[in-house]
Amino acid sequence: MEYAPFEKKVWLSSPTMHGEELEYMKLAFDTNWMSTVGGNIDAVVEEICKLTGNKYAVPLSCGTSAIHMAVKLAEIKPGEKVFCSDMTFCATQNPVVYEGGIPVFIDTERDTWNMCPKALEKAFEKYPDVRVVALAHLYGTPAKLDEIKSVCDGHGALLIEDAAESLGSTYKGRQTGTFGKYNIISFNGNKIITGSAGGMLLTDDEEAYNKAWKWSNQSREPAAWYQHEELGYNYRMSNVIAGVVRGQLPYLQKHIAQKKAIYERYKEGFKDLPVTMNPFEECSKPNFWLSCLLIDKDAMCVQERGELSASYRDEAGKSCPTQILEALAKHNAEGRPLWKPMHMQPLFKDNDFVSLGDDVSADLFERGLCLPSDNKITPEIQYRIIQIVKSCFE
Ligand SMILES: *Cc1c(COP(=O)(O)O)cnc(C)c1O
Repeated sequence: MEYAPFEKKVWLSSPTMHGEELEYMKLAFDTNWMSTVGGNIDAVVEEICKLTGNKYAVPLSCGTSAIHMAVKLAEIKPGEKVFCSDMTFCATQNPVVYEGGIPVFIDTERDTWNMCPKALEKAFEKYPDVRVVALAHLYGTPAKLDEIKSVCDGHGALLIEDAAESLGSTYKGRQTGTFGKYNIISFNGNKIITGSAGGMLLTDDEEAYNKAWKWSNQSREPAAWYQHEELGYNYRMSNVIAGVVRGQLPYLQKHIAQKKAIYERYKEGFKDLPVTMNPFEECSKPNFWLSCLLIDKDAMCVQERGELSASYRDEAGKSCPTQILEALAKHNAEGRPLWKPMHMQPLFKDNDFVSLGDDVSADLFERGLCLPSDNKITPEIQYRIIQIVKSCFE
């Protein structure tokens, strides 16, 4: 059956406001705390520490600047190799490059679509001197943290946890963003809660907290004039943005419940199709930020991807991400290919990639896609999306 396009665009993941955000923004306005100091920032810092269990949180302009601070704290030196998630958004490792470090990408495992602990172990055999591992939790699904931690500990390596996509997710009852020495979260517009922008560095280390705080404030020394001993950055969070985050925070659990319901409806809706959903381990509770679909190998039609565009050949009973994404777009719904693995990016063509044999990241990228996962998707809208996806396999 043919459906007309959705009247209102169905988004992958768009901001969902509730009302309190505006009140806290107005509070900043009315009290004239319109800069990078103020009550909204203090409240958000306190609430994030309470929520995650970290001792300290540094409020910053975005998640990427938080990762930059983490990389600085890890004292990565020019030419130094750093093990990084391969299947992630570029912000996980770009700050490594800002500091002159060289990302070495670690292949993905199939149980959570995150860094493979066995490939990480193999990477340490090849590069025993590596000191830092940067790990992301893709689409809100916690990585195999016990195994990753144990490999890191076995080699005396420091873990940076990129929990930008996984705020509120837990692993064995503990929040992501608490397993690394330095951890980050993001309040970007498409994340599970948003400030429109913003991010935080999370740590239990007081000295690290003080350093990151100072660096993000242009490394001002405590003098009456602008006094500088170190290179600084203008990475502070605005009190207006913190107001948005402050208004969103009480809705985190609600957003997670909505995203989980979306994930489960897709899973149920696709049960007769040759596809699986993005998997997670029993011991973890993802925040279900994005629902993703992986097409079985033998149900893939021919798909050709160049650097900037893709095409496919339609085949009965088969489909591919390109076909499904085009069908969604035609109906005014936004999907997205899975994040293109970093080792496949032209930017990182000279960087090493460590895998156990077959390239799991590339295989997931070939066969997977992110489905519309916006909080505001109703069961009726989702039913239609499911039918659109099903029609691609006819
Ligand atoms: C969103 C995101 C970030 C940080 O994003 P900002 O837009 O800088 O806040 C970092 N890592 C991952 C994996 C992300 O998805």
